[in-house]
Amino acid sequence: MKATRLQVVDPQHFTDADLLPFARLLAAGGTVAFPTETVYGLGADATNPAALSSVFAAKGRPSDNPLIVHVAAPQDCEPLVRTVTPLARVLIARFWPGPLTIVLQRSSRVPDLVTAGLETVAVRLPAHPLARRLIALAGVPIAAPSANRSGRPSPTRSGHVVTDLMGRVDGIIDGGPCAVGLESTVVDATGAQPVILRPGGVTREMMASVAGPVAIHPALTRAGVGEEGHSGAPRSPGMKYTHYAPRARLVLARTSRSGATDQTPPANPAAVAEVARVLLALAQRQQAETIGILCTDETAAVLGALAAEMKPPPLVVKTLGSAANPEEMAANLFLRFREFDDSPVTLILAQPLPEKAIGHALMNRLEKAAGHQWEEA
Ligand code: AMP
Ligand code: MG
Repeated sequence: MKATRLQVVDPQHFTDADLLPFARLLAAGGTVAFPTETVYGLGADATNPAALSSVFAAKGRPSDNPLIVHVAAPQDCEPLVRTVTPLARVLIARFWPGPLTIVLQRSSRVPDLVTAGLETVAVRLPAHPLARRLIALAGVPIAAPSANRSGRPSPTRSGHVVTDLMGRVDGIIDGGPCAVGLESTVVDATGAQPVILRPGGVTREMMASVAGPVAIHPALTRAGVGEEGHSGAPRSPGMKYTHYAPRARLVLARTSRSGATDQTPPANPAAVAEVARVLLALAQRQQAETIGILCTDETAAVLGALAAEMKPPPLVVKTLGSAANPEEMAANLFLRFREFDDSPVTLILAQPLPEKAIGHALMNRLEKAAGHQWEEA
């Protein structure tokens, strides 16, 4: 058991004095959880193998899952990589600071523990002012995976970090909820064309507007079929872990419109009614389970009336937010997963969501949580 230093720090009005004790812990090889705009990270000195080992130990993280290195300024990326490619320069200029992790060939300064033995390293400059100042004060690049125990949903509130890591790390900074709520986009920028390895807050469309056509790694496509000749070998090792899942089994409800969720107007009443009907029909079949439903505000609003007619077993209904507001839904996803974890629900029936903008990342996390299981009514 470690004595964890836990402190509330106002994410807008903090001073260096608030952060210095934590920066010193990091510089001395300690582990500190801190908020970023995506999710809470568990940081350690990326140049210190002993500190990196503590991160893997605290999380129970498999050693073949590499870490993202966080820097405080764009130029701090340079010593970590062999070359900053022209593509990376364009992406850095447009999207840093922000929720974009850039994969480049590593330099010899990066320990094997960070990259899990890969020849590439993943680097990010977070937009959260507290995270950036903490990294700057620590004076070293900070390797930081999500601050959850391995296998649990990423933490988007300090309470999630306390639940998972109190007594296992040296410090936890409570800086309020995370704005994006999903992990960063990971993009391979080693070549001339960007390849998305993990979708996130910086979308394909956003990158395409400055970097031309953007490929999506085949492991991410629904059919698993590659685009533009990329092979399916897992270039982003973390992709094989289902670390976004709640404890209950999660199943996606297939509707006649599921194949074209991106074309469905968010609050189209016919589409909403169909989703609600399919969710309730699936629930009716599962009398032995304690059932949770994860859906939009719009779907929840029609569920009640329909349930009176269809008589499903008792349901725990949780909403992500309005279908018209994918950012809100993204920010709530992992919070809802953890709420379900604290409930007696054994099966979660989830509504597929429009794959526009951050909706692509949202559906990626939902499909991973579902183990790609879809069920028809
Ligand atoms: P986490 O910070 O917990 O979200 O995990 C970091 C994720 O970043 C890993 O699971 C990988 O998917 C990805 N990642 C880290 N380093 C690399 C790399 N060198 N190449 C590709 N993906 C990486
Ligand atoms: Mg993680």
